[in-house]
Parts: sequence; C-alpha cells; structure tokens
Amino acid sequence: MIGAGRTVAAAPPDPARAAAFLAELRHRLPELPVLTDPAELEAHRRDETANIDPPLPLAVASPATTAEVADIVGLAAAYRVPIVPRGEGTGLSGGAIAVAGGLTVLFKRMARILEIDRENLVAVTQPGIINASFKAVVAEQGLFYPPDPASYETCSIGGNLGTNAGGLCCVKYGVTREAVLSLEVVLADGSVVRTGGRNVKDVAGYDLARLIVGSQGTLGIVTEATLKLRPAPPPKLTLLAFFATLEDSGRAVARMTAAGLQPCTLEMMDGFTIRATEEYGHFGFDTTAAAMLMVESDAPGSAAAADIAAADAACLASGATFTLAASDPAEADLLRQGRRAAWWGIERLGLARMEDVVVPRSRMPELVAAVERILAEQGMPGGTFGHVGDGNLHPSFIVPRDDPEGPARIDRARTAVYAAALALGGSVTGEHGIGVAKRDWLVRTRGEGAVRAMRAVKAALDPLGILNPGKVLPDGA
Ligand SMILES: Cc1cc2nc3c(=O)[nH]c(=O)nc-3n(C[C@H](O)[C@H](O)[C@H](O)COP(=O)(O)OP(=O)(O)OC[C@H]3O[C@@H](n4cnc5c(N)ncnc54)[C@H](O)[C@@H]3O)c2cc1C
Repeated sequence: MIGAGRTVAAAPPDPARAAAFLAELRHRLPELPVLTDPAELEAHRRDETANIDPPLPLAVASPATTAEVADIVGLAAAYRVPIVPRGEGTGLSGGAIAVAGGLTVLFKRMARILEIDRENLVAVTQPGIINASFKAVVAEQGLFYPPDPASYETCSIGGNLGTNAGGLCCVKYGVTREAVLSLEVVLADGSVVRTGGRNVKDVAGYDLARLIVGSQGTLGIVTEATLKLRPAPPPKLTLLAFFATLEDSGRAVARMTAAGLQPCTLEMMDGFTIRATEEYGHFGFDTTAAAMLMVESDAPGSAAAADIAAADAACLASGATFTLAASDPAEADLLRQGRRAAWWGIERLGLARMEDVVVPRSRMPELVAAVERILAEQGMPGGTFGHVGDGNLHPSFIVPRDDPEGPARIDRARTAVYAAALALGGSVTGEHGIGVAKRDWLVRTRGEGAVRAMRAVKAALDPLGILNPGKVLPDGA
C-alpha cells in the first residue's frame, strides 16, 4: 500500500517570523516589488469564485525572472511561509485565493514570449502573458495555439497551465495539457528543473509536465512553458441552432456525434442563459428558445461547409426551430462573443456561482435533466451552458445578494449537482479544478487509493507544505 505521505501544511507564520521573512526578502531582492498595503492586498485576495471568503495575503510579490522566483521560494521554505502562485485571478475554484500568512506571487512582469520556433512549431513563453495576447502574436506568424477558455482575453497562460484549462475548441484540439511540450518549474525547495525539451516524442522518465499541469500551483511554480503550435487553420464557419426543448438540442448533439462530425466548437446555452446574455449584450439570439447550440468547423477547403451543412441537417432533424449560419467572419465573431458573454449575463442577476461538471457525452441529456430538477427543488433561478461537445457543463445558481440563506442554498444546489454528475459516471470538475471549492469531493470522485497516491506525490515534492497549502487535497490523512 502506498504510504499516507502526509505533508505538514505550513502553519501561518507568526507576525515576527513573517516580518523577518519580508525584511530578508527586501534585503536580498531590493528591486522586487512587494506590496503590503491592505488596499493592494485586497485586490489579490479572491478569484472569480463566489461564496468564498479568504484572508488577506501577507504580501504580494512580482518577480521578473526565474532566478527571483527561485530565491523567493527558497527563502519561503527557510521561513516556512506559504506561497500562492497567481495568474489573473479569473479561476473558478479558488485556486489562487490568498492563504493566511502567505506570499502571493504574480507573473505580470514575466509575460514575454521568449521564442517562436517555426521549424519545430513551438513557442517558449513566460507564464504571465494573457492567453489572447499569446494567440494573437503567434497568429501574426500564421500559427495557431488552440486552448481558448471563454475567459481568454483576461486569463494568463500560467493560470491555464495551473488549471489545465479547457475552452471552446477543446472538442477538437484538446485541453491545455495537450499543448504542452515541457515546462521550467521552480520546486518547493527553490531549485529549478526542466521537464523536457521541444521533442515531439520523448518518454525519458516520468512525465513531470503532465503532473504539474492542472496541479493548481501545489507541486511547483511554472516559470516558462514550451508550447506546441499548429499551422493556422482556415477561418471558422459558424452555425447557431435554436430549439424548443433542451432534449431536442441533446438529440442534435447525439446525431452529430454519431455522424462522426468533428466540429471545432460545440457549445450549448439553455433558455435562461440565452435571455440573460441577450439582455447583457444584444447578440441577436432567439430569446424564446429553450436551448441554443453553436457549432463551428475550421476544416480545410469545402469540408467546413459540408460539416456545417451536416450539423444543420442534424439540428433540423432533431427539431430545431430555427438555424442561422454566420454570413461572414465579423458576424461569426459577434456570435462567438455572445457565447463567451454567457457568464457576464448571469452573474449580474444576483449572487451567482458557476459550477463545472463533466459526464460521458452520452449521459449529457441526463445531466441536463438533473440540473433542471435540482433548480426546481431548490426554487432558485439558474442557467446552464458550456462545452456540450466535451460533456462539460456549467450549471449556474443564482440567489438574491441580500438573502442570508443564499450561500447555503447555493451549497445545497451545487452539492446535488456534483452527486448527480458522479452518479452518471462523471466528475466534479471538467476544467476549473478542485481548488478549495471541491476538496471535500476529491475522495468521492477519485477514491481513497488515488488520493493517497496524490498525497504521496505532494509530500515528495513539497514536504514542508508551503506551495499553495489548502488547495486541491482535502484535509486529513
Ligand atoms: C467568464 C469566465 C469564463 C471562463 N471560461 C473558462 C473556460 O472556458 N475554460 C476554463 O478552463 N476555464 C474558464 N474559466 C476559468 C479561468 O479563467 C481559468 O481557470 C484560467 O485558466 C485561470 O487563469 P488565471 O490566469 O486567471 O489564473 P488564476 O485564477 O490566477 O490561477 C489559477 C490556478 O493556477 C495557479 N497558477 C497560476 N499561475 C501559476 C504558475 N505560474 N505556476 C503554477 N501555478 C500557477 C494558481 O495557483 C491557481 O491554482 C473562466 C472564468 C471566467 C471568469
């Protein structure tokens, strides 16, 4: 049996130790910006996860080089000060929220693309760059970096690596992990390792990059990433289909899957989400519909038009009331922005919590039905949208901001949704991560043995428990 491998989570440093740590940090790295003003700390306390109330961090530091990150971590290990790596704080599981007495480390000054290697279709980048900026720079060279979370204009590559982010085109190109060749990582003792190079094939030893990606800053801090690029695909063709029932949209997805269609986007919004989004931004969606699918193809030549025609036929055969193909790239962009705005439409309506569950694609209609039942049982409004082509949905729950029972009601609803996803053979998170929000569900999702193995990995790589303590792994043995 694998040993429990318990990590001793660093207790928050007492004020004297914390002050000594900060004094030595400033002495050793006099150029390092270190924020301690409470107003500035407040801006780095939370991420986008509703219903979580973390403490203020001890301080916030912005290193400019890998060597500075290594020095910070080495010193933090000596003083037993927790470290929280933080990208842009758009996370939806509490991965980047502050921990008591901890130093939050930002990567805004480490946001350069270091190299674009056209011959090998590879880019080497620092973690702080915004996903959309990275995509835009490689696109100028006729290249394509697929991972595209709906938040791509506001989230960082480092955060995407931290969460193994998904997005709209994962259905064809896979999640962030699929785009990673190797990483430079600062380990918990301040040492710096590289997990590999730029070889397309390389099976030397354990695959540390795959372990680090998605570990939410609990196993190491990414300071550089070597990412796979592709030749830019042709412009996408875009189809919207509206349905009178959610079940009809589910049938359309099943028909497309059975027909072997390989869209690069297959997204769903339910009627509530359509109306909330349309009130937010006027994208031209049919607000009378119960469901909308967005299907896109970037296949070469005439194949894209054939894909869209086949998707159109599948939707109409499944009862679509109305379909619309974007007439040009500008219209397609607008429709895509509409899908990306779904959350902003919903979160204005009260205290809103976006959830993230995934099921085998064939069980998607059952998940949708379970979410509807749970909303009715809890008597609360909410919308469901997401990456239906991946079986990954974001049921969202809304309560009035002034409802004292609101947070508890949201907790009841999300608990019921996790249970439903697990009962359908799914998981409590498809792309947002366990963070702090779902730690209590990790054992139920993965099993005791797997979580014991995770603890052993954590204990081996971070024996002092200073890297993002309290995230991912549940408390206890
Ligand atoms: C409107 C909206 C839409 C979204 N859509 C999607 C979507 O389609 N798909 C999706 O997957 N997510 C989505 N998200 C969630 C979020 O944007 C992603 O999780 C994103 O990857 C977080 O990036 P960030 O830069 O904000 O990271 P943060 O939230 O700051 O951090 C995320 C995690 O990464 C860790 N981390 C950050 N930098 C590093 C580093 N250098 N080394 C190691 N660990 C690090 C942090 O500790 C934390 O655990 C959405 C969020 C919003 C608000």
